[in-house]
Amino acid sequence: MTDPFSEAGAHALDAADPLRALRDEFLIPRHGGVEQAYFCGNSLGLQPKGARAHVEEVLDKWATEAVEGHFTGQAQWMPYHELVRDPLAEVVGALPSEVVAMNSLTTNLHLMMVSFYQPTIERTAILVEAGSFPSDRYAVESQLKYRGLPPKHTLIEVEPDNADGTFSMEAIERAIRDNGQRLALVLWPGVQYRTGQAFDLAEIARIAHDVGAIAGFDLAHAVGNLPLRLHDSGADFAVWCHYKYLNAGPGAVAGCFVHERHARTQRPRFAGWWGHEPDTRFRMGPEFVPTPGADGWQLSNPPILGLAPLRASLDLFARAGMPALRAKSERLTGYLEALIDARLRDALQVVTPRNPAQRGCQLSLRVAGGRERGRALFEFLGTHGIVGDWREPDVIRISPAPLYNTHADVLRFARAVEHWRAS
Ligand SMILES: *Cc1c(COP(=O)(O)O)cnc(C)c1O
Repeated sequence: MTDPFSEAGAHALDAADPLRALRDEFLIPRHGGVEQAYFCGNSLGLQPKGARAHVEEVLDKWATEAVEGHFTGQAQWMPYHELVRDPLAEVVGALPSEVVAMNSLTTNLHLMMVSFYQPTIERTAILVEAGSFPSDRYAVESQLKYRGLPPKHTLIEVEPDNADGTFSMEAIERAIRDNGQRLALVLWPGVQYRTGQAFDLAEIARIAHDVGAIAGFDLAHAVGNLPLRLHDSGADFAVWCHYKYLNAGPGAVAGCFVHERHARTQRPRFAGWWGHEPDTRFRMGPEFVPTPGADGWQLSNPPILGLAPLRASLDLFARAGMPALRAKSERLTGYLEALIDARLRDALQVVTPRNPAQRGCQLSLRVAGGRERGRALFEFLGTHGIVGDWREPDVIRISPAPLYNTHADVLRFARAVEHWRAS
């Protein structure tokens, strides 16, 4: 049998990959004439070749139809966001009426907190993970201040209980139950960006609801990475971006989920005309009548050029299907983990949970020897066309994306680390 850690072995694994053709649907950047080993889909996914045609379609329509483009021909702009609704609902496991592509992640998080963070005399607190993504933390803290509540008393940050910086479910449950009476909102990541740990969202939503709190999720690192079942999870809301694993381009229009049970909610919201019920929107009346479902949180007519590339990416997700992508992802990340265990244990420590059920495609790798060694390795990789990303003080994140990465890419990474270590 071929050694799976040899070049021939990696190529044999790639030849047996039922999704191997999808790589050809992406533009892979080059380094010194050779395709990069690109592991940075957790930050910016690669460009689907189909994206350009969708963008050009919008530019051409604008050139030839101008204002008429809103209502005429193919891919009309008025209902343009509806073009992504069904495939997006499929990717996140939601009803089509529960999802909408709009704004940016942080904007959507604010809009959701305006509606779903409703502090009362008894319940004022928001519970988040310690070390949450800065934008989320800024958003939460500013919401608390906006309501006149001092974050010192109302922001609960749960510390990880494991030495590697990950959380046990028991620690999360304890934190929610211990603060149950005063919790208004539990806001938790689907996959923690630093450690790559994935969480049982249904269980967290269940516990949050059990104590009478709202459950909201930030799925920036989970969407397109893990098969999600948002509707069944019972989450009240969720937000995510589309430029990471969803490959929709820098600053792409983001996503938002509002559970069906809130489709006709009377909760307050920040309103705009695009959230108005579409049949009567253009009567331009003074009274806001929200569209039932997630669409009712839209503010403005969307940036059509920012939505266009998402269509190309969602086509690829629909073609592959999340179950097959996840199966490949487990194989690919498992291969990376096995290579590290077999050959690189002295150089790299895997911070991400070892249990595949508790992670997506990303492995966070702590470089032995501290920050300077880590930086040196990171730069060495860069000069060899291997693209991961760096997290202070000593972690390199490597995220093999099942849509376009190969076992050969992963082997190339491991080989490069070996060379660096020997140098
Ligand atoms: C990537 C990411 C963001 C980015 O926010 P934008 O509003 O899209 O700029 C926010 N939160 C988390 C957890 C992220 O991973």
